[in-house]
Amino acid sequence: MPAPDDRRWDSETDLLVVGAGAAGMTAALVAALEGLRVILCEKSDTVGGTTATSAGSVWIPGSRQSEAAGVADTIEAAKSYLAGVLREPAFDDRLSAYLASGPAVLDYLEQRTSVVFAPPPVHPDYRNLPGAAKGGRALAAVPFDGRLLGPDFDRVRPPRREFMVLGGMMVGKTDIPALLAPFRSWGNFRHAFGLLARQARDRLSYARGTRLIMGNALVGRLLHDLRQRAVDIRYRTALKDLVTVGDEIVGAVLTTPTGELALRARKGVVLATGGIGWSNELRERLLPDNARRYSLSPESNTGDGILAGERASAEIECELESPALWMPSSIMTQSDGHLSVFPHIMLDRAKPGLLAVDASGRRFVNEADSYHDFVQAMLRSNRSPASVLAYLICDRRFIRDYGIGLVHPGTRDLSRFVEAGYLHEGRSIAELAAKIGVDGEALTHTIERYNRYAETGIDEEFGRGTSELNRFNGDPANRPNPCLRRLGPGPYCAVAVWPTDLASSAGLRTDARGRVLRPGDGVLKGLYAVGTDAASIFKGTYPGPGTMIGPAIVFAWRAAMDAAGVLDNFSMPSD
Ligand SMILES: Cc1cc2nc3c(=O)[nH]c(=O)nc-3n(C[C@H](O)[C@H](O)[C@H](O)COP(=O)(O)OP(=O)(O)OC[C@H]3O[C@@H](n4cnc5c(N)ncnc54)[C@H](O)[C@@H]3O)c2cc1C
Repeated sequence: MPAPDDRRWDSETDLLVVGAGAAGMTAALVAALEGLRVILCEKSDTVGGTTATSAGSVWIPGSRQSEAAGVADTIEAAKSYLAGVLREPAFDDRLSAYLASGPAVLDYLEQRTSVVFAPPPVHPDYRNLPGAAKGGRALAAVPFDGRLLGPDFDRVRPPRREFMVLGGMMVGKTDIPALLAPFRSWGNFRHAFGLLARQARDRLSYARGTRLIMGNALVGRLLHDLRQRAVDIRYRTALKDLVTVGDEIVGAVLTTPTGELALRARKGVVLATGGIGWSNELRERLLPDNARRYSLSPESNTGDGILAGERASAEIECELESPALWMPSSIMTQSDGHLSVFPHIMLDRAKPGLLAVDASGRRFVNEADSYHDFVQAMLRSNRSPASVLAYLICDRRFIRDYGIGLVHPGTRDLSRFVEAGYLHEGRSIAELAAKIGVDGEALTHTIERYNRYAETGIDEEFGRGTSELNRFNGDPANRPNPCLRRLGPGPYCAVAVWPTDLASSAGLRTDARGRVLRPGDGVLKGLYAVGTDAASIFKGTYPGPGTMIGPAIVFAWRAAMDAAGVLDNFSMPSD
C-alpha cells in the first residue's frame, strides 16, 4: 500500500522529464507519441545539452538503415566484438535489451518522427578486435535545416565555438577537403561555394548558420517534433528534488523563474540531466584526481539527476573500467577572455608526422587510437596531478598540411598561439624540450625512433597505423603508412593536452526498462534514469562512435514506452 499522498501539488502531469538532451528529448517525444501528457523541464534557456555539441552518432548494430545503405552489420558480429571489449561478464539484461531493441527504436523514430539516421560508409569501431565493424554500425544524424524551427531556432544550444567558422557555420569532416582546396575539383568548388553562400544568407537573418549537422541536427529534429506534438517544454526550470511518498517517487520540486513548483507526475519522473558534469562533489568522489579540472559538459550539467537519485536512495554504479569517457583537449584563453577547450577528436592525432609524449619526453600510446584510449593511457602514464599533461609534437610542415587543435591547416602566422601559451615552438628539439620542460635527450631519442618507423612504415612500439580507425583518420596519400611521416628539420612545435570528460559512465544503477534500482536490486518505483544519468551499459569502455547517444536514445524510448505501459507490446528476446 503506498502511503497517502497528502502533499499540496501546484500542478500535475503524466510524465515529468528532467533535462533536454538526446535522452530527455527522446523520452518526452516518445511518451507524447504514446499518448502521455508530458512536461519536459530544462535548466538552461536552450535545449540540447552536451548532445548539441556532439558529433551526434549512434552505435546501433544490425539496423535496417545500414542494410539499406549497403553496409550491413549483424548483432551477432557486434556481440563477438563486445565480448572482446568488455571481457567477462559481458552480457547483462541491459546490454541484451539494448542490442535487441536498437534497430526497432531506429525504425520507430523513422516511421513516427523526423528523427532519422544514416550510416556513413566508413566509420570504424574503436578497438581492433574480432567482430569490429568498419562501417554500418555507427549511424549519423541526418542534417537538418534550422530554419524549419522558426523562432525556436534560438532555443537550440549552439555547437562548441571552436568547431564553427565564419561567424557560426558548422563544419563536418566531409566539408573540410572542399573548404581547404575549393579549386582542386569541380565537386570541391560546388560544395564549398554552396556552404559559403548559405552561410552568407544565414548571417543576414540568424545569429549563426542554420545548416545543422551532427549533434545539432539531432537536437534540431527532436525540438521540431516536440513542438509539433505540442509538448510542454519549460525552460530555466530545474529539478530541485524528487518527492517520495512511501517507497515511490510521485513527483518533483522544480525551481522556475517565478519560484518553486511542486509537480505531481502520475506515471513517473525521468532523470536525464547529463550525468556528473561539473558537479564538484561527484567529480571528487568519482573521477581520478588528475582528470577533474576540465570537462566538455555544458555549464548547466551539474550532476543534479544523479545526486537527486542518490538522495532518494538510489545507488551509483562505480564498478566500471572508467568512471568517465575522455577526450584529450588543448586549452587556450582567447583575447576576449573565452576559455577554448578544444577536443582532439580526429583531425590531427592520427595524421602522419605527429607524436605524443608524456612528461618524461617518451611516447606512451598509439596516438591514432580513440580519444578515450589515448586519455586512458595518459592517465596511466601520468599518475601524479602535477604531471598530467601530454604534449602533441609536430613540425611546421604538419601544421601547414593538417593544422593542430585550434591552429587551422595552412596557418602561417603562429604568433597569436605562441603568445597565448597555446603553441610552443623551438628551432631544435632541444630548444622545444626546454620550453615545455621535458628531458631534451629523451625527446630527441623519441623523435629519432619515430622517424625510423616512418621510413619502414612500422611503428614497432605502438602499432600506429595498423587499425581501421587509425587509417580512417590518417592521410591515405601518405605512404607507406598513412599515420607515420618523418618530423624535421625544425622548427618543432608542441601543444599541451589535458584529460577532459566528454561523458560520464558512472551513473545511477538501472534495469533494462530504464527504471532506477535501489541497492539490492529492488526497483525504485516511479523513477527512471536515462542518458548519462544512468550507468554505462558498456561498463565504462568505449567500443565505438555513438556508444553514448545510442544507449541514451534506446533507453529513453524503453523508459517512455514502459511509463506508457506499452513496452511489452514490443516483444524482444530479452524482455
Ligand atoms: C565533443 C563531443 C562529441 C561527442 N560525440 C558523440 C557522438 O558522436 N556519439 C555519442 O554517442 N556520444 C558523443 N558524445 C557524448 C554525448 O554527447 C553525451 O554522452 C550525450 O549527448 C549525453 O546526452 P544526455 O541527454 O544524457 O545529456 P545532455 O545532452 O548533456 O543533456 C542534459 C540536459 O539536462 C539539463 N539539466 C541539467 N541539470 C538539470 C536540472 N537540474 N533540471 C533540468 N534540466 C537539467 C542540461 O542543461 C542539459 O540540457 C560527445 C561528447 C562531446 C563533448
